[in-house]
Amino acid sequence: MSLEKIVIIGSGPAGTRAAETLLRQGCRNITGISEAPASGGQIYRRQPAGFGRQADEVYGSEAEKATALHRSFDALAGSIDYRPNALVWNIFDRKVFTNGPKGVDEIPFDRLVLTTGAMDRILPIPGWTLPGVFTLGGAQIALKHQACAIGRQVVFAGAGPLLYLVAWQYMKAGAHVVAVLDTSAFANKIAASLKLLALPRLMFRGLKFRRDLKAKGVALHEGVRLARVEGTQSVTAISFEKGGKKQWLACDAVGLGFGLNPEMQLAELAGARTRFDRTFRQWVLAHDGEGRVAEGVYVAGDGHAIGGADVAELTGERAAWAVLADLGLPVSAERQSVIRRALKRQAIFREGIEQSFPLPAEWLADTPDETILCRCENVTFGEVRAAITELEPNDVNRLKAFARPGMGRCQGRVCGHVLAELLAAETGRPLEEVGRLRGQAPVKPLHYKAAAGKAEGAVQVQQWLEQADKVLEDG
Ligand SMILES: Cc1cc2nc3c(=O)[nH]c(=O)nc-3n(C[C@H](O)[C@H](O)[C@H](O)COP(=O)(O)OP(=O)(O)OC[C@H]3O[C@@H](n4cnc5c(N)ncnc54)[C@H](O)[C@@H]3O)c2cc1C
Repeated sequence: MSLEKIVIIGSGPAGTRAAETLLRQGCRNITGISEAPASGGQIYRRQPAGFGRQADEVYGSEAEKATALHRSFDALAGSIDYRPNALVWNIFDRKVFTNGPKGVDEIPFDRLVLTTGAMDRILPIPGWTLPGVFTLGGAQIALKHQACAIGRQVVFAGAGPLLYLVAWQYMKAGAHVVAVLDTSAFANKIAASLKLLALPRLMFRGLKFRRDLKAKGVALHEGVRLARVEGTQSVTAISFEKGGKKQWLACDAVGLGFGLNPEMQLAELAGARTRFDRTFRQWVLAHDGEGRVAEGVYVAGDGHAIGGADVAELTGERAAWAVLADLGLPVSAERQSVIRRALKRQAIFREGIEQSFPLPAEWLADTPDETILCRCENVTFGEVRAAITELEPNDVNRLKAFARPGMGRCQGRVCGHVLAELLAAETGRPLEEVGRLRGQAPVKPLHYKAAAGKAEGAVQVQQWLEQADKVLEDG
């Protein structure tokens, strides 16, 4: 048994399996924190209280896995200190800083397991900030969580497995899906098919989505180049090019997405290093192969590298075994080797997915100057290009300081990778050389008064703001 204080951030598939394994193997001082109101994470997000849809209506073919995960988490009740609705906004001095229903709190830890999941990856196109444009994940949350569709005539556009999945889920729920506009050509999927066959069930599930969508009359266009979301007040159409021919589809909502980006900011604050992964064309967390990223800090799930829900469960358990080994508690070498083997297959499949749906980053070089790049701070491509030409920033963090993209509410979660792609394209340098936006506290917005006295810098910010209030009051 161990009484060392273990904090787990996140209660999705990775966090749930980590907590379950640690508890089962004798850890008795576990705190689980999640900003969500309930466990389940993104994929197995639970319905709000009062919604009574059956699991297969909400999770489709994944209903059994979702129910099993929920059951596992519910069985932990009373044995771990679970704090839902609590945002972790900083990690500092071996303490986790939260803002939850009872205000701010500092939770010291001996070991920290980070399972913070992922966020949609967006490539801006003209019109992407119009009301009626949602990320694919956002469109799915509306359906899964609230049983709402994002529009009456919906087009799903972009790349990645979520594109077909969400379109299929909308169609199944009775929404009118006008079309799927896939920026990747069919030939890419054929070329990747041997890798995708590493997990035949998942590959055939993807093929079934396509077949069902076609059978219901949903237009599937592959190898398209998205031109613009049309409309002035809200979405009225989407235009694109396919085989050199310009096309146009009327719709009132667009679900847009190009895969996912790991949520790594908290891990960086906890001392983790990142590395550039060429296959994924993105930064991921560098770990020792078992999830260790720094002294007493462990990572798992989509928050360390995008892998999907099954990988999240496996790596959540893997991180727990690493914690147990470091605590000197017994570990199951057999179980660890099963996990390693399963992850190898998953990694091959994942490569197949990346090959099937490459990010069309080359578009960014031609994105019109007036297109918004950072919607929080309202910074356009033209303004960023001007900063690159005039001020010659050598990395993406300097560019942020010069032109303000990434300084708003989302802290660069949406635009950070676009900024890096644009800087690389405009200067002809490899993407990994221009760097990535550093994770900084607070990682998500919180009221400055909530933070007062709880973290370095917060008191100073409060003093500045109080002075500003006084100046305004004094006229
Ligand atoms: C919007 C969206 C929809 C998706 N839908 C699907 C799908 O339908 N099918 C599929 O196969 N995959 C889907 N994915 C991918 C899928 O989410 C993952 O593969 C899987 O859920 C990863 O599990 P995880 O435990 O790593 O992270 P998640 O399930 O994302 O869980 C992350 C956890 O961390 C918590 N968290 C994050 N940041 C903080 C913070 N600062 N403070 C406190 N808590 C925090 C969250 O509340 C959550 O509990 C989706 C991804 C996204 C982003």
